[in-house]
Amino acid sequence: MEANWKDNEIQDFIRQAYQQNFDLLRLESGISLTPEVKRAGLLQVLFYWQKMRDVALNVSETEVRLSLPQQESPKEREFGIEGVVDIVREGGKTIIYDIKTHDGDYVRSHIDQYEDQLNVYAHIWKELQKQPLDGTAVICTDFPDDVKEALTSGNEAQLERALDRWDPLIEIAFDRRKVKDTIHSFGEVVDQIEDREFEPRSVEELRGSYTDRSNVSFGTHVCRNCDARFSCAAYRVYVRHGRGRADQIFENYYNDLEVGEPLEEWRTTGLDSVGDVEGMI
Ligand code: SF4
Repeated sequence: MEANWKDNEIQDFIRQAYQQNFDLLRLESGISLTPEVKRAGLLQVLFYWQKMRDVALNVSETEVRLSLPQQESPKEREFGIEGVVDIVREGGKTIIYDIKTHDGDYVRSHIDQYEDQLNVYAHIWKELQKQPLDGTAVICTDFPDDVKEALTSGNEAQLERALDRWDPLIEIAFDRRKVKDTIHSFGEVVDQIEDREFEPRSVEELRGSYTDRSNVSFGTHVCRNCDARFSCAAYRVYVRHGRGRADQIFENYYNDLEVGEPLEEWRTTGLDSVGDVEGMI
């Protein structure tokens, strides 16, 4: 992206690119979005651009693939680690950014998990590839809860305050002492997968808070977006004994996967979009 682009030109470009991607995905998948969801998606990109403008304008390499092949798990299985990062070189400094679709509160309260992963990337970049490195950071693209609430309420002043508080960039210190342990724990996961040891979280963990500061449970925030939830015993118990209305509605899905408001909305939106798609062919 040209560094001398004006802000409004970039916002126009984002709107156009967003619409083009939306049209393409709708043609490819036959699935559309409700106008509210589509607008929320565009707002997220625009707000994200405003917050991350300086970093975005200085990205020198995007989607750099870092790999660490030929590692050995505790049970002597060979595995490799691969990750994709963005690199910014500015004013003689080089920073690795790992972009996550998670929200910042979750990342801050589980910082160890993110440190471990970024430390391995930093190790590959700095010590194996002998490249300069001055820092690493996670960029979180999901809105925090207060921005979501302000958007839903439509209160401009509340939104402005929430956007001011939103900090999607979380710096992480490089600690080479942890790299060996992290690679070892990746190897343990490889062994668990290969040995078919798949244990869900406990029901107590699902009932517990999603983050240290949140009053939303792990079961609501994470499991509800998990593709494995229909066959997860812990989630089934969580839903059957849940207090939330949405949790109780969800129980119906066990009996009939084709009912419920969200599906009806999705179906109607898909039908509504057929006319637009035909008009484009
Ligand atoms: S629903 Fe998914 S995320 Fe939640 S405990 Fe089960 S497997 Fe894990």
